[in-house]
Amino acid sequence: MIVGNWKMHGSNIDNKARVDIIRQQLMQYTGVQTAICPPFVYIPQTLKLLENSNIKCGSQNVSEYTDGAYTGDVSATMLANIGCTFAIVGHSERRQYHHETNHQVAEKASIALQAGLVPIICVGESQQQRQTGKTLDVIREQLTGVTTLLDTDSIAKIIIAYEPVWAIGTGLTATPDQAQEVHLFIRQQLNKNVAAKVRLLYGGSVKPDNAASLFSQEDIDGALVGGASLIADDFIAIVKAAASI
Ligand code: PEP
Repeated sequence: MIVGNWKMHGSNIDNKARVDIIRQQLMQYTGVQTAICPPFVYIPQTLKLLENSNIKCGSQNVSEYTDGAYTGDVSATMLANIGCTFAIVGHSERRQYHHETNHQVAEKASIALQAGLVPIICVGESQQQRQTGKTLDVIREQLTGVTTLLDTDSIAKIIIAYEPVWAIGTGLTATPDQAQEVHLFIRQQLNKNVAAKVRLLYGGSVKPDNAASLFSQEDIDGALVGGASLIADDFIAIVKAAASI
């Protein structure tokens, strides 16, 4: 599975040009689930551009509340209502700039599931946490909220993205072995009856030239792609790399 996170980039004209190429080039790659997560305002446009294709659309965030006086927030029901399939929750940029906590991230995942969306739950350690040997402790803590709040059936539906913070948008990538170690650890934290079903994506400077070596790892089921998803040819090449494994 390959998911593009456009972050706060785009315009009507750029989006159309990019989606038209991606859509046309990815027609035959039906074995790889693909999705695009544009900024909220461009979700309707993207959904329209993706009509009658296999490419799905997701949001980059979702409110942890069902509805009410939460100015500026967007609910899971609203996103599902207009046709979204996925919702990224707990991206490190949300945790860093909006101080989202593990508890909030778990609530967001839960409410997304209740509305029929599939949450893509992001976890990952900072450079300092890796250097001080705390990576697995941090990941365990980030996952605990989710694994305690959600029941087994719900856990079977979630997607988890391991995104080491030091690798996001920096050009640094976890080596396939480093990523595999954390992915295996994540799978071991999940209920044994459903762990194999949960898709685990890697994110952090995935590019066409490092994608295949990451995807060849046992527990890496795809990627959450930031920067490279804004370049149609790179996004297409990453999907092709996934299709070739
Ligand atoms: C991301 O934003 O989720 C991401 C992985 O970004 P990049 O691919 O640019 O590192």
